[in-house]
Amino acid sequence: MRPTLYLAGLQARKYQGPGRRLCAMAIPRRWEHGDGRVPLCAPPEAALRKVQADHDLTDYRATLERWWGGMESEFRALDQPRDIDPGKVVLRDGDTLFCACAAPDSPRRKHPCHVEILAPYLVRAGWDAVIWGRRLTLRIERATTTREGVVVRPERRTVVWAGTPERFDPAAYGWPNTETTT
Ligand SMILES: [Zn+2]
Repeated sequence: MRPTLYLAGLQARKYQGPGRRLCAMAIPRRWEHGDGRVPLCAPPEAALRKVQADHDLTDYRATLERWWGGMESEFRALDQPRDIDPGKVVLRDGDTLFCACAAPDSPRRKHPCHVEILAPYLVRAGWDAVIWGRRLTLRIERATTTREGVVVRPERRTVVWAGTPERFDPAAYGWPNTETTT
């Protein structure tokens, strides 16, 4: 069984996990630090300030995906204590990563939340992610090789809603689709 991280709003208790509540925010206020902060899972501060000013969600999504896309090894190491950084929070099964954004089913919801972009990076790094109450997992289709060992089709790893073949797409939460630009 893959370990699970919960992605939810700080106020959305019904979507949080049984473990610690850890802050995934770039600029948390004093009461938004929870049981610790995980900087890797927060948006870069400059990107957050930019989207707050220009509301360009397409650019914000592309910036986050470029940034997190280059950090695969950091995501893989989120559950490993490291001597070099004693202040580092080590993630454990059942922990919640929270943001202050409102849940999709909340009347206070005004815009999508960066955790909806973050989720697939956690899933590819070995976690299941329960986002706003729904579980995401990894579907691995093995490579097809000939008898001589030539790879005809490489292994495919897809982030899907658990128990379904349905691929995860942040557009479900109101994010502009960037696939045409990458
Ligand atoms: Zn948020």
